[in-house]
Amino acid sequence: MQLPNQFDETKASVLAEKIKRSQSILITSHYNPDGDAVGSCLALYHYLKTAGKKTKVLIPNVIPDFLLWLEGADKIIIYEDHPGKADKLIESADLIFSVDYNDFKRTKLFEDQLHNSKAFKVLIDHHLSPSNSFDLIHSRIEVSSTAELVYELIVALENEDIINKNIAESLYVGIMTDTGSFSFSCNYSATFSIIAGLIKKGINVEKIHQLVYDTYSENRLRLLGFCLSEKLVVLKDFATAYISLAKHELDQFQFQPGDTEGIVNYALSIENIVFAALFIEKEDIVRISFRSKGEFSVNEFARTHYEGGGHKNAAGADSERSLDETITDFVELLQDYKEELQNLVAEHKL
Ligand code: MN
Repeated sequence: MQLPNQFDETKASVLAEKIKRSQSILITSHYNPDGDAVGSCLALYHYLKTAGKKTKVLIPNVIPDFLLWLEGADKIIIYEDHPGKADKLIESADLIFSVDYNDFKRTKLFEDQLHNSKAFKVLIDHHLSPSNSFDLIHSRIEVSSTAELVYELIVALENEDIINKNIAESLYVGIMTDTGSFSFSCNYSATFSIIAGLIKKGINVEKIHQLVYDTYSENRLRLLGFCLSEKLVVLKDFATAYISLAKHELDQFQFQPGDTEGIVNYALSIENIVFAALFIEKEDIVRISFRSKGEFSVNEFARTHYEGGGHKNAAGADSERSLDETITDFVELLQDYKEELQNLVAEHKL
């Protein structure tokens, strides 16, 4: 199915005018930024730079190492490291982009500052239910990634010719990482048309793949092995599998941010498992990642039971109970979903 570029002319002309008039543009993304967050921010950054605009990128906390090779990544301001400078940037910006998140609270560290800012606020995002704090919204949930929406925006404002190699690499990283290397959320031909265009800009797909994925530390790989051999729990009757990691276990593998990225997907890769969860014990909360196959909405599950959320097949939440209690609660909750999950397995059989 082909989806039209829905960054329509009215929106494009409003935004073009705002960009033209702005003196100071700020691009922001969410806490614990992923490949789509960083890639989308940098693509927009490089585009606005080519347009000659004074632009900065602000991200709440540390950028994972596997993204640091991206051109411009070293210029991103990390709020946690420079809160004073960052607050001033938010205050002085006249145009703020919120990229790859749907609510100021997802920045965790500068929610209030964004609310108080007088800037014109633009949302570019593919998560469900955007908040109403924005002046202009480009939000679609059916696309692969926010990077795809940034591509639409650039093409709507200019045309494909403006996309240089730096923009193309950033967009590619966003789309590649948010689709698990083109294995989910990419059932529209538009995604691949965009990719074809990006490759024409001279990006090296093989090299990018290596830079992003072949970067495990020994500890990270051993942590993954530990999760799979020691920590994986499979609840066949519920078509569910989960993995949990206590703080002392993370310490054992000298855990670094990003080391648990993707682990939950292994639980989901088991035959006839349609629901997977990863529980990670943090300082004062338990961070939960949910994944599902098909129609089971983990977004709804996370919203209903944990005030979390995300996408239909990938969502996150926090629990304020202990790790053990959180897991016990989760297994108990599954009782209510048993039939639904079993039916899904039956449907999933090809
Ligand atoms: Mn995304």
